[in-house]
Amino acid sequence: MTLALSIAGVSVSYGQVAAVHSVGLDLERGTTATIIGANGAGKSTLLNAIAGILPMQGRISFFGRDIGDEKIEGRARSGLVLIPERRELFSSMTVEENLLLGGYTRRGEDGDQLAVVHDLFPRLKERRNQIAVTLSGGERQMLAMGRAMMSRPRVLMLDEPSLGLAPLIVRDILDTTVRLKEAGVSILLVEQNARAALAVADTAYVMENGQFILSGPARDIACNPRVAEIYMGQS
Ligand code: ATP
Repeated sequence: MTLALSIAGVSVSYGQVAAVHSVGLDLERGTTATIIGANGAGKSTLLNAIAGILPMQGRISFFGRDIGDEKIEGRARSGLVLIPERRELFSSMTVEENLLLGGYTRRGEDGDQLAVVHDLFPRLKERRNQIAVTLSGGERQMLAMGRAMMSRPRVLMLDEPSLGLAPLIVRDILDTTVRLKEAGVSILLVEQNARAALAVADTAYVMENGQFILSGPARDIACNPRVAEIYMGQS
């Protein structure tokens, strides 16, 4: 078993206020791990710390290498890439221009990778000349994922990809994580939509008040009575 990402004893604070308390997580290569939890549980804070945007205490290793001292650019160059909750696109540029800007870390090979991204997201190929601001919410999320894929990530961290999307589209977007995984990417997926996230993930962590209160195979977590009651309603 190769660990793509491993963190241990990770704590993150905003000034005096602790938001994440000593959490540990292992992401096996070629799998999807999801972190579910309510608003304000600390999920985004943890992803931002892993990406190198926020300072943290604790240990972090990426494919066995300690990256605690690396800044965000170094982590991204190594292939640890975050798609933030606010899908930051270049609104006045076309779909294709957005994709090509995503490939900036590997100049010269962007044409090949564009074909890979078009295979993963045929919609982005169809809409390649459309201005990003005119895309639907689901298409914008696909573009954010496609753009991240242009930099050939080894681990992709997705912060609430389903945010603001209609239920049918949520399923569509989360299903694309399965294809990204097949393309060789390991995925760390933060979601409030527990039902949809647990359906596509291999392992799951439940976060409450900055700590993981439960973790295990996603199918076991989905059957946990507390998770079913609090995070998935009764249906
Ligand atoms: P959401 O799904 O609503 O984004 P979350 O689980 O991602 O929730 P975080 O955004 O990580 O939660 O927030 C965790 C805690 O840290 C919350 O109590 C939040 O108010 C606090 N927090 C987040 N950002 C800041 C900040 N910039 N300064 C101070 N406190 C913050």
